[in-house]
Amino acid sequence: MSGTGEPTIFERIAAGEIPARMVLETDRVIAFHDISPQAPVHVIVTPREGRHRDVVELAAADPELLAELVATAKRIADELTDGEFRLIFNTGPAAGQTVFHVHAHLLGGGLKEGSLA
Ligand code: 5GP
Repeated sequence: MSGTGEPTIFERIAAGEIPARMVLETDRVIAFHDISPQAPVHVIVTPREGRHRDVVELAAADPELLAELVATAKRIADELTDGEFRLIFNTGPAAGQTVFHVHAHLLGGGLKEGSLA
């Protein structure tokens, strides 16, 4: 576990403090369009709560929640794309992670050149 400091932007979105274009919400997971899309479909899938910094921490602490993130991504991909997609977890600043609340980037619908993947 980590993240004892200020809530991250994604926790503030989950709390309704910051608006986002929501795609899907469940008891434990929220999904919304990335503000700076890198593909025709670019959705952030993230836990509603919990203080897991990245996917490694989440996998160790709550593998069921990680599985729910993946299942949610698949549901969204079935709805918004042809059902095939990339799921990216940037892990650590040098890998491009900027928000330290675990989240998956769901990328689909054809990728732009030079996208995050
Ligand atoms: P990371 O770089 O941590 O893997 O991904 C963070 C992502 O969050 C980036 O793709 C960035 O565009 C997105 N992002 C940052 N701030 C906001 C925001 O306020 N709203 C939304 N919808 N996306 C955001």
